[in-house]
Amino acid sequence: MIKISGLKKVYQSDIGDVTALEDVNLDIRRGEVFGIIGSSGAGKSTLIRCINLLEKPSAGKIEIAGQDITELSGKELILLRRSLGMIFQHFNLLMQQTVADNVAFPLEIARVPRTEIATRVQELLKLVGLSEKAGAYPAQLSGGQKQRVAIARALANNPKVLLCDEATSALDALTTKSILALLKDINEKLGLTIVLITHQIEVVKEICDRVAVIEKNRIVETGRVVDILTKP
Ligand code: ADP
Ligand code: ADP
Repeated sequence: MIKISGLKKVYQSDIGDVTALEDVNLDIRRGEVFGIIGSSGAGKSTLIRCINLLEKPSAGKIEIAGQDITELSGKELILLRRSLGMIFQHFNLLMQQTVADNVAFPLEIARVPRTEIATRVQELLKLVGLSEKAGAYPAQLSGGQKQRVAIARALANNPKVLLCDEATSALDALTTKSILALLKDINEKLGLTIVLITHQIEVVKEICDRVAVIEKNRIVETGRVVDILTKP
């Protein structure tokens, strides 16, 4: 589903060049939950930003569903971005909008007809267990509920891949478990490929099939979670 080869990213800054990623190779399969784990500064955000087309790689190739994203035109890029859902540590919800409006937002951008939007929003809120909160504002929700809204929003346009950037890092242990259970449920129900970036080893152990370990801007290990992250 996502094939990355020879990926390199160098940031130009006034104190000189900063290499954030060096020779990254990854093959993420359709329908799997894939973890990318590493400590702060390892290059995780840069990697997810390259996959999500927010950063342009300095070298190398990224293919998503068979398309080389470094060679797409503006319009093709817009369509491809729509097929990537994303959730974040701090949820990034629109605070002045209701839960339903937050979920409707990407559908409005995609010019989905109004009547279809209403039905789709109901389905999505049901999927994440928040039907009762459609009219609430984010400030009235718990952290876990906010992340559920963000998940519903990320799934609105039927993405091929869901990218999760430290999606449970701001949540307590119990809420983390319930969000991970929801992600696993969505993975199984919809066959959605999920890529999960985290510094939390428990998160990877809980739901990932395979994992890549990133250290000092390079992938140092890739494999099944049971083979790589077993306790000594
Ligand atoms: P992580 O997400 O694992 O914490 P990042 O991808 O944020 O790692 O950062 C990897 C390296 O790249 C770090 O050394 C960081 O300081 C550097 N870096 C990240 N973004 C930029 C940027 N926009 N400009 C310059 N350096 C950056
Ligand atoms: P995260 O918490 O996801 O690792 P960071 O705090 O590393 O995020 O980065 C937040 C933002 O700042 C990102 O857009 C990243 O590209 C940018 N950034 C990170 N490190 C640097 C840096 N050394 N110089 C400039 N920008 C940076």
